[in-house]
Amino acid sequence: MKKVSRRAMAVLALTFALLLGLGAFVVRYFLRGADWAVFPGNPHTYSSGILNSGILTDRSGTVVLDATEGRKYAEDAALRKAMLHLLGDREGYIAAPMLQEYADQLVGYNFLTGTYHLTDKASTGTLTISASAQQKALEALGGRAGTVGVYNYKTGEILCAVSSPTYDPDQVPDIAGDTTGAYNGVYVNRFFNATFVPGSIFKLVTTAAALETLPDAASLSFQCNGSFDVEGDTVNCNGVHGAVDLKGALAHSCNVAYGQLALQLGPEVLTAYAEKLGVTDSFFVDGYHTAKGNFDLSDAPNVDVAWSGIGQYTDMINPCGFLRIMGVIGGGGEAAEPYLMASVDSTSLLGDYHAKTETTGRLLDATTCQTLTDMMRNNVQQIYGQGNFGDLPVCAKSGTAEVDSDQMPHATFAGFVADPNCPLAFIVVVENAGSGSAVCASIAGAVLQECAAVLAAE
Ligand SMILES: [Zn+2]
Repeated sequence: MKKVSRRAMAVLALTFALLLGLGAFVVRYFLRGADWAVFPGNPHTYSSGILNSGILTDRSGTVVLDATEGRKYAEDAALRKAMLHLLGDREGYIAAPMLQEYADQLVGYNFLTGTYHLTDKASTGTLTISASAQQKALEALGGRAGTVGVYNYKTGEILCAVSSPTYDPDQVPDIAGDTTGAYNGVYVNRFFNATFVPGSIFKLVTTAAALETLPDAASLSFQCNGSFDVEGDTVNCNGVHGAVDLKGALAHSCNVAYGQLALQLGPEVLTAYAEKLGVTDSFFVDGYHTAKGNFDLSDAPNVDVAWSGIGQYTDMINPCGFLRIMGVIGGGGEAAEPYLMASVDSTSLLGDYHAKTETTGRLLDATTCQTLTDMMRNNVQQIYGQGNFGDLPVCAKSGTAEVDSDQMPHATFAGFVADPNCPLAFIVVVENAGSGSAVCASIAGAVLQECAAVLAAE
């Protein structure tokens, strides 16, 4: 008898342990099931670490990815190339953190049916991106390396975030065997994950600092004789501008004026403004952690302080981060934070997702931004020409960013449309392409006009 009851006790103990384990599993299943389903090791939802579920469309309903069975990209080859850095490739060389971020909703996981769909309906994500703007931007870059970004600074919607070079994921070229350099850095998303020497577009940050901290900034005057001396070192200008005020200095992108202005402001104020405007920060944008820029004047001699205010020295910006600064100026001192996913119509029990606009909070005074707007509008009217921009009231600053001495400078161009009905900020970077406005103004103009047409049609 003793033996039997001992066995019964053992069976009871085992049963109890089993029930306890089952209970623990059920609790964990309900708490973490969605995470397990979208875990990158799950072969039902992933291949090569890339999410394979749901459908993605651009803001107008054009399907850019159908991942309900494998990965089917857009019909159009040009669109496949333009969207590659946002959607990722099949091999997993180009990550798609945006898809990972919305995996729960896109996979359509629920507790009862797992990832199996009772209906034929798949989860559908609608991007803020415009397929036509992406294609226009890639076409305008004309095979050159760089990036074009456009976003609505009132709502935060990113309409364009193109990265070049790129390729067709349905016709993968021999990238490893390429010797022409055409695919250098092809796996990098230059809009979110790269940093660039800004060149003279950084003069906008210096101007903002001057307008807010020098009592008489708008009435400052400078004398440019083509260069000036700082403790035995020379800061060269791109021309001989004679007597210029602040507005003229920005229009002519005068290095003598901005070098002297930087010295007048000093390293603390310049650093404070670079940091306040987010140059040195990383931002979270729908799965992406943007690359941090650089602004570091610790132990810098005065000549380097001067060059930092001109956008050279060790200055670096991330295109998405700088686009946000253009939004802040266009928005009168604060802007919407950029985002990519407008909504997900989800088959999961998590329900649908709808983006909400968040703001940067006030970063600059409204009067500072009004003055900057007037100065940047003057740049377009007097220097770059309105011709590239149709009837859009574009405000802009160009840059010609010196990089390695044996390479052509990067062309940079940034600004916004000063129109409450078309609140678009933009940035264009073309690597090793030469002069900023000559190269970039037509690219910016083509993409902005496409985006304006898309907004007007909505
Ligand atoms: Zn000058």
